Amino acid sequence: MKQKRYLLSEDNIPTHWYNVVADMKNKPMPPLNPGTKEPLKNEDLYPLFAKKLADQELDQENIWIEIPEEVREMYKSYRSTPLVRAYGLEKALGTPAHIYFKNESVSPVGSHKLNSALAQAYYCKEEGVTNITTETGAGQWGAALSYAAKAFDLDLAVYMVKISYQQKPYRRSIMQTYGAQVIASPSMSTKAGRKILTEHPNYMGSLGTAISEAVELAMSTENCKYTLGSVLNHVTLHQTVIGQEAEKQMEMAGEYPDIVIGCFGGGSNFGGISFPFMRHNFTGERNTRFIAAEPASCPKLTRGQFHYDFGDEAGYTPLLPMFTLGHNFAPANIHAGGLRYHGAGVIVSQLLKDNLMEAVDIEQLEAFDAAVLFAEAEGIIPAPESSHAIAATIREAKKCIETGEEKTILFCLSGHGLIDMASYDQYLAGDLVNYSLSDEEIEKNLEEIKDLV
Ligand SMILES: *Cc1c(COP(=O)(O)O)cnc(C)c1O
Repeated sequence: MKQKRYLLSEDNIPTHWYNVVADMKNKPMPPLNPGTKEPLKNEDLYPLFAKKLADQELDQENIWIEIPEEVREMYKSYRSTPLVRAYGLEKALGTPAHIYFKNESVSPVGSHKLNSALAQAYYCKEEGVTNITTETGAGQWGAALSYAAKAFDLDLAVYMVKISYQQKPYRRSIMQTYGAQVIASPSMSTKAGRKILTEHPNYMGSLGTAISEAVELAMSTENCKYTLGSVLNHVTLHQTVIGQEAEKQMEMAGEYPDIVIGCFGGGSNFGGISFPFMRHNFTGERNTRFIAAEPASCPKLTRGQFHYDFGDEAGYTPLLPMFTLGHNFAPANIHAGGLRYHGAGVIVSQLLKDNLMEAVDIEQLEAFDAAVLFAEAEGIIPAPESSHAIAATIREAKKCIETGEEKTILFCLSGHGLIDMASYDQYLAGDLVNYSLSDEEIEKNLEEIKDLV
């Protein structure tokens, strides 16, 4: 099958991350201290995060932030990642659209998450931290951080959402192979976990709960920092290597995207591929559309509300101005575990509010239909998360069939699905279902946050 790949030489791998906030006319509103409701200062984040990461989190001025040499060296082991012209998918659809995907699944751990894991582990090590904690949904972040922790000689404890711990045992094994300690969340090892288990003994966990547990452990352990794999500004910042590379690779292909698409959990792969292109919309040179593809069962961008909310279930985190379904929202057990989070990153939330991007929601079965078509056409089995981006791409490519337009569509293949074959088994057996979510259920959870600020 015809397939064209574009790669960059080592010299062309980005030397800086792109801080989109510095270019935004409307800056995101500040995160608030939940006690005082005052805007957070960098120092407020130092107990939780490595200092340089805290500084990056609140940086609204520096457009370009230099990538430390040690991190760039690690990037070189798998970057650049290929930009691929998906001729097979175009043909299967019969579309005049030109479809490209940025293949982040070629990282050693199989997803884009390593781009930020390496940076976060590096900064922790640099400031003398010995232990780090985190949470993981589907296990990709935990796997990436486990490898990064090993690379920079840190001890790691991972709280893994219980449903994924059971559905995706191999991701647990991967983390353990890299030497991490993995705990199913909710667990009895923290106050936050014990409280939830007492009230709901059969609760299968969520990212929100796992975050509460990881934060609690970091705050109560000496020389220990917390790390996060999505949602936060500094995480998305690190992911901008994706879009910067893609920009150069699209140039090699002699094209510029009309539409850029990413699946959406907290926003890091979507922001990572979009923001470097969005720069050119800000200056008026381009008019690219940016589409975030979220699951219909966890629709914070399409059906949530822009409001200050906690990033976690127990309410330990700062209050963040974001599109949210409420921090007590418990998403259905879809297989795209990495997209089961109640809120959207602060930057993306502001961009959506300002109509500088769009969002669509995708049902589970549409995502798997798209995944199987993509696998047949391009040979790569996509992660269930990434399949949402593929489904959104297919929708746009089908519109081109009707209009005859030769649009150029770029999407981020955030990861492969080789460790998610249990979910493909269920799909192939006809056992997967869509989950409908009533307006009442959404309103009930939003009601609970209306007095937070
Ligand atoms: C974690 C994950 C996501 C969702 O996270 P974002 O921060 O929204 O990118 C998407 N795809 C894969 C493969 C993931 O591992």
